Amino acid sequence: MRIAIGQLWQETNTFNRNATTLADFENWGVATGGDVIAKYGNTGELSGFLKEAKTWDGDVEFVGLARYVCWPWGAVDAATWRKIRDDFIAQLEAAGPVDAVFLALHGAMSAEGEPDVTGAILELARLTVGSDVPIVGSLDLHGNITPRMVANADVLVGYHAAPHLDAVQTGERSAKALRWMLEHRGQKPVTYWRKLPMMTAAENHNTFTGIPAPLYRQLEAFEREPNVLSAGLYMVMAWFDTPWVGWTALITTTENDRGLREKLDSFCDACWELRHVMEDVERLPAKELVDRALMVKGHPVVIGDGADATNSGSPGDATELLREFLSRESIPRGALTFMVDPQAVAVAKEIGEGGAFDAPVGGRYSPEFSTPVQVKGTVEKILDMKWTLTGHIGNNLPIDMGTGAVVHAGETTILLVERSGPGSSPVLYETAGLDPRNFGMVVAKSPSGFRADYGSFAAEILLADTDGCAPGNLQRLTYEHVHRPLWPLNPIASMEEARWTPAGYV
Ligand SMILES: [Zn+2]
Repeated sequence: MRIAIGQLWQETNTFNRNATTLADFENWGVATGGDVIAKYGNTGELSGFLKEAKTWDGDVEFVGLARYVCWPWGAVDAATWRKIRDDFIAQLEAAGPVDAVFLALHGAMSAEGEPDVTGAILELARLTVGSDVPIVGSLDLHGNITPRMVANADVLVGYHAAPHLDAVQTGERSAKALRWMLEHRGQKPVTYWRKLPMMTAAENHNTFTGIPAPLYRQLEAFEREPNVLSAGLYMVMAWFDTPWVGWTALITTTENDRGLREKLDSFCDACWELRHVMEDVERLPAKELVDRALMVKGHPVVIGDGADATNSGSPGDATELLREFLSRESIPRGALTFMVDPQAVAVAKEIGEGGAFDAPVGGRYSPEFSTPVQVKGTVEKILDMKWTLTGHIGNNLPIDMGTGAVVHAGETTILLVERSGPGSSPVLYETAGLDPRNFGMVVAKSPSGFRADYGSFAAEILLADTDGCAPGNLQRLTYEHVHRPLWPLNPIASMEEARWTPAGYV
């Protein structure tokens, strides 16, 4: 038996106007053919899928297609998207007949001229292998489900955890769903799905202890039913200004099951009822936030700057908080933050360790949200920012943020990096020899996922209300392409008022 495996993963923030290029993907490691499994078979969803499929009886041959992974950023440029598409098709054609296809995907990825990359790649796979070959796609629970995705995948399997600690298990669940199809050839699974005209602040997306936790326990209960292959709730990443953005609930079963369909309806009603409470987040403007942090006994106070979250595709160079830190005469134990700014890194390199730094920092990628701030300080260290992410989002995921420079300015320590990467992990700072546990205040550029890695040692966690490409306060942004009405951008009294969904009530 031959199973084709590929990965196409990026979360796109359409408010970040800087394109994701081929060089960006190459930095994260492009692979085709056998290299997909040889080099990346121990990472994330692929590792879980392979682990599970290797326990099956009989000869299973894994055929690598292509692996394109890139950290969240702006939409993929048209030429890169063409190359990705061509590579996947060429590899699928070269693979010859296969018995199944597994694609590890995100679900909220767009390219210039293609707002739904995930749906497009599933459609290409379907057109290439034909209607009888099972196709399973794994997704982030922030994916935006489209009719094209549902039409072309037999089963979509989404994360059940935010912070995303279940990439490996999602791969395993994908393999289990695929196994049923391989054992019941000729039987097509049935998918029920519904879109809800709502999107919500990511700060409240915690599925372990947060507001949606009971919904995700319900999904797990659905998946324990013998005829359910997959149950998912996709809370969508809100900074994805594309058509049909909204929450989606989806169940795939082995057969028609009216009862399950009714349960899905009740489940969707429960989701809709949560929309107001999901918006209940305390975010503080920069000045108020630093004042509050100074009053906290103990350290570190971990500050979630969701608007500049590199984990949500923001550039990671917003200067509002940095400017506030620099204006303070005293921050006991100091403040620690990072900035994605290759130009400032180049300046620091030129100056060298121990030299005096006096240059603008940040505010370059999204001038509509943020302007550079002049930083005067000392270059303490120049280093390579290569590390491995295990935790929220990644499992054995190799990270390369280029050259890093540690600049100390007054009460603030700034880690400058050339390229974006996980803003949710303390290992980012530790790689530069900076222990976030020792600081008074530490910035995590992530809306919610950072809690998985910082929660155990944070004296307190505060959330910032700042400008940027990924604010939790969605009213700060101007949406042009979403279908409306869409809550909370538009007031909606009842779902009946907003039956824009292409899926309708299935
Ligand atoms: Zn996500």
